[in-house]
Amino acid sequence: MIAELKPNQVRLMMLKVADAIIDAEAMLSQADRDLGDGDHGLGMKRGMEAVKVQLEKLDPSSVEQVFVTVGTAMMSSMGGASGAIFGTVYRAGGKALAGKSHLTAEGMALFLQAALEGVMKRGGAKPGDKTMIDALHPAAVKAQECVAMPLSESLSAIANAAEDGKEASKAMIAQFGRAKTLGEACIGFPDAGACSVTIMLSTMRDYASA
Ligand code: ADP
Ligand code: MG
Repeated sequence: MIAELKPNQVRLMMLKVADAIIDAEAMLSQADRDLGDGDHGLGMKRGMEAVKVQLEKLDPSSVEQVFVTVGTAMMSSMGGASGAIFGTVYRAGGKALAGKSHLTAEGMALFLQAALEGVMKRGGAKPGDKTMIDALHPAAVKAQECVAMPLSESLSAIANAAEDGKEASKAMIAQFGRAKTLGEACIGFPDAGACSVTIMLSTMRDYASA
């Protein structure tokens, strides 16, 4: 059981997240092909390659710095809807951890709540619209319930909540992006961005429980 992570461990965890997203490129692009224009995997891969370049040379002094570095690298390398959306996750989430020397379960709850609020403000979508918010929102709610746990335990519950949210997105009718024009034809397919959120959080869980 791991109670908390130091800034450099958060850096190493995010390098694992970057590799996991890069490895999932084909799956993420297929998910976007089912509902959108098919570029989500490539966009995320480009973002995560930029993240790796920045993290490999970073000697972090804070948890906030690691996450803000991730978000800035995504925002400046990806473009498109998801560059702004996922960049906001890490920049807004990271800023909520200002002054924290370690990442704890409480910090994870602060991170996810600020990420959720930032994305909703930035993109105007809400839970149920079949976007990445449908994985991020249940993850943020679960994180709040788990603040008293060791980080490894809370991340395990958070990753399960995100996975359940991604599965639930299959039944939703999209209200944003290209998928909106599909109407009921999008039922049965998960949102691509929700798949990315799930991979990110399950990789964080794996790092913290290793
Ligand atoms: P694009 O839509 O520019 O092709 P991507 O394919 O990389 O970008 O990303 C699409 C994903 O971005 C969607 O699956 C969805 O999860 C997320 N997304 C798009 N618009 C929004 C929004 N307004 N709010 C939250 N997430 C969004
Ligand atoms: Mg797309």
